[in-house]
Amino acid sequence: MPYRTVPAWDRFTALTHAFFGRVANPTNADRRMTVAAACTTLGLSPATTLDLPIQVHGDRVAVAEDGPAGEADGVIVLTPGRIAAVVTADCCPLLLIVPGARAAAAVHAGWRGTAAAIAAKAVARLCAVTGVVPAELHAALGPTIGPCCYEVGDEVVAALERLGEPGRASIQHRPGQRDHADLRRVNRALLIAAGMNPAQIHLVGGCTACATDFPCHSFRRDRAAAGRQLSVVGWR
Ligand SMILES: [Zn+2]
Repeated sequence: MPYRTVPAWDRFTALTHAFFGRVANPTNADRRMTVAAACTTLGLSPATTLDLPIQVHGDRVAVAEDGPAGEADGVIVLTPGRIAAVVTADCCPLLLIVPGARAAAAVHAGWRGTAAAIAAKAVARLCAVTGVVPAELHAALGPTIGPCCYEVGDEVVAALERLGEPGRASIQHRPGQRDHADLRRVNRALLIAAGMNPAQIHLVGGCTACATDFPCHSFRRDRAAAGRQLSVVGWR
């Protein structure tokens, strides 16, 4: 399975992470096979159980050790061997790691989650449960629909603008066209506002709808036929 990683994270030799790209049959019915193939690709047992929340476009971040994540859009893992995961198709997949504590989180941030500042909430929760400060975290924002392709309506513009400057700065107004938004830009700004070091925030991959060098599923492009790409993170 094709995937991308963060080159700067190569030095964390006990870390497992990946942003997977488009696969052939990624429908829900095939998800178990996709997960098994993804785990095999990363050298994990194909029987590995991922901590994958039931994503609902909210702002709840669950801790896997508390029990099944249930409905949530972020999941934290605190135990080596556990792998946090989310699925996306245009929404922003965000991976957070705490090298000192061998903890990690996977977060799904569509426009609703982004507008609800789930990125900042994930940083706060991860810091609270590991006892570190935000500057000790590292983050990676994976393939996301870009401002090149992400036309948005008034509802999305209003929701992002309620975040203040990070949201306003992410909206591109174009004469004679609908507005376009840059979800990764907002989420990166939210991470920095939450206290993270900008040098420890990485962007991986490009636009899910138009990038050809690393093809991804795109809901905007493929609608009902769109699959989902898997993003995973954890410590061995
Ligand atoms: Zn694009």
